[in-house]
Amino acid sequence: MIINKLIDLEAFNRDESIISLAARLGFDLRKSGSNFTSPCPVCQDTGSKRHLTFYPKTNSFICHKCNQFKGTNFKLIQNALNLNNRETVKWIMDSFSNHKTNPVRLCSPDSHENKILEKVSSQPEIHLDIYQAFYSLLDLPDLIIHYLEFDRAITKDTISRFKLRGIAKNHYSLKTELQKRFRTDDLIQSGIMYQPEGKSPVLRFNDACVVFPHYHQGKLLYLSTRNLNFSIKSYKLPQQVFFNLDALTQYKTVYVFEGIINGLSYYQMTGNDNFICTLGIISESQYQSLIRTYSDTEFRFLYDPDEAGRKASYIRTDSQFYLKLFSSYGFKEIPLHQSRNCKTKPKEWDLNDLTIWLRDEYEERAALLEYCQGLSRPEAEARADIEVNNMKPVQ
Ligand SMILES: [Zn+2]
Repeated sequence: MIINKLIDLEAFNRDESIISLAARLGFDLRKSGSNFTSPCPVCQDTGSKRHLTFYPKTNSFICHKCNQFKGTNFKLIQNALNLNNRETVKWIMDSFSNHKTNPVRLCSPDSHENKILEKVSSQPEIHLDIYQAFYSLLDLPDLIIHYLEFDRAITKDTISRFKLRGIAKNHYSLKTELQKRFRTDDLIQSGIMYQPEGKSPVLRFNDACVVFPHYHQGKLLYLSTRNLNFSIKSYKLPQQVFFNLDALTQYKTVYVFEGIINGLSYYQMTGNDNFICTLGIISESQYQSLIRTYSDTEFRFLYDPDEAGRKASYIRTDSQFYLKLFSSYGFKEIPLHQSRNCKTKPKEWDLNDLTIWLRDEYEERAALLEYCQGLSRPEAEARADIEVNNMKPVQ
């Protein structure tokens, strides 16, 4: 089970001295008051330049020049050794075998409260194998790329960072391939297939859709989808697991979004992956469980600024976030969607609407520069890049 492979990263970040760790990783430390300084590898400090400061009191570090290289033990190792999350965990386990390796709290067996994340470890292995096999048969059809890039303004970099995939009209080969490798009963129980009465089993995800893989510590635990045809409700696999769970073990401040596209928009806008997506508004008991399980984490709920988001009154939402964000782009209030149907109320923009607007703004600027000022396309794009970047919100 997953439990045995994990370490308590939070305890590791808190209890292992960042100073000894930095020394072990080869940082050239010099004492400065109660702190230590060192050249910053990101800024490539040379000579006597020492922009990196280590703080024993908070067991953290930051480069005051680039402001990019900062964090706790985990981040220090990851950046210094250029490892991905999984490799970093492995390095810690190998290098700190004496360090007490408690299971992380999310899998704690005695926390019967923990309804959200106990599912992480309660999925039968065979189902996880099926998800993995199914996922590895997927690709990124043009139709799906077009939807993500054109309709949602999600860039190729983001698509590849979160390993998004898609399905478009290759159901038969997917089904055949899975049935070669797994028992049909298992495929049905896993939720990937179902059997309509009196007919042979078929694949569940049978519409053109985006597939979002939900990983935790490098392991695929769940797949969620979004149909391109909104009139067909997206099918949900049993035992829902949140998206981007690794954020919970890596960050002190975690932003919580309803939908994955909003989370991805946040990532694209800020470059930060300290977010999770709950696939809809969570129930009160899920909410209590989440904040109790991660009592040291500061959650910022950024549910859509609409009626449904506000209705969940047990959730302390960050009500000023959207207003601040939009005003940093020059909006006096959160814009509303034009309502095509006068029966539905106009809806306030969410993060993805802003992402699309920024993309369009960029495209428009580039096009204007290209045509009106006679710049070449690359010149126009470079200029538009600068102008749109200047509009970035201040944190
Ligand atoms: Zn730096």
